[in-house]
Amino acid sequence: ITFEDFKLNKQLLNAIEEAGYERPTPIQQQAIPLISAGHDILGIAQTGTGKTAAYLLPILMKVKYAQGQNPRVLILAPTRELAMQIEGSIELLAKYTDLRYTAIYGGLGPKTQIEKINEGVDILVATPKRMMELYLKGELVLKELKTMVLDEADKMMDMGFMPQIRQILEVIPRKRQNLLFSATMPDKVVELSEEFLEFPTRVEI
Ligand code: AMP
Repeated sequence: ITFEDFKLNKQLLNAIEEAGYERPTPIQQQAIPLISAGHDILGIAQTGTGKTAAYLLPILMKVKYAQGQNPRVLILAPTRELAMQIEGSIELLAKYTDLRYTAIYGGLGPKTQIEKINEGVDILVATPKRMMELYLKGELVLKELKTMVLDEADKMMDMGFMPQIRQILEVIPRKRQNLLFSATMPDKVVELSEEFLEFPTRVEI
């Protein structure tokens, strides 16, 4: 299997080549076709397996180019560090597209983040608290969301983000594609996946 087999567009294939990815990792081999086909996914994968590109590549393929003002993809991460890392992976893989993306997280004032959002964003990476904060301030319009990712869901549960995640799920469109990634599957994550995913396909490496 090669990246060409996934029918990714030229912009993505060029970025993949430049990133030095020679072939898809096992999680990418399994997840990319399923996500491209529109399935909800429960992915059990550790960091280091290539899980970020496994969901980013089909998402980038789906959203294709800059459109409108409001995010169509929301990626939630438990920590500022992971949010920044995901933003870095988008930067790498979306470099030949015109897609607009940003990461919002706590630990600094929201002003610059709000300015960036107001310029128009296709893909939003966020930690749950800051995301809800900006939403409640009226700075985020979520009605155009089509895809939502929960990354490191076990860590999100450990950090007590279930209430924020529930709040977010209440204010976003019901009809959407959902992807959940977790290194482990404790009861809390099973519960979360039952609330969040619809007829998910399980992908495990
Ligand atoms: P992740 O598991 O998403 O944290 O990714 C771990 C590292 O593997 C990151 O530095 C990625 O850039 C890199 N990576 C992702 N996919 C591939 C691939 N197919 N070939 C080589 N490296 C990859």
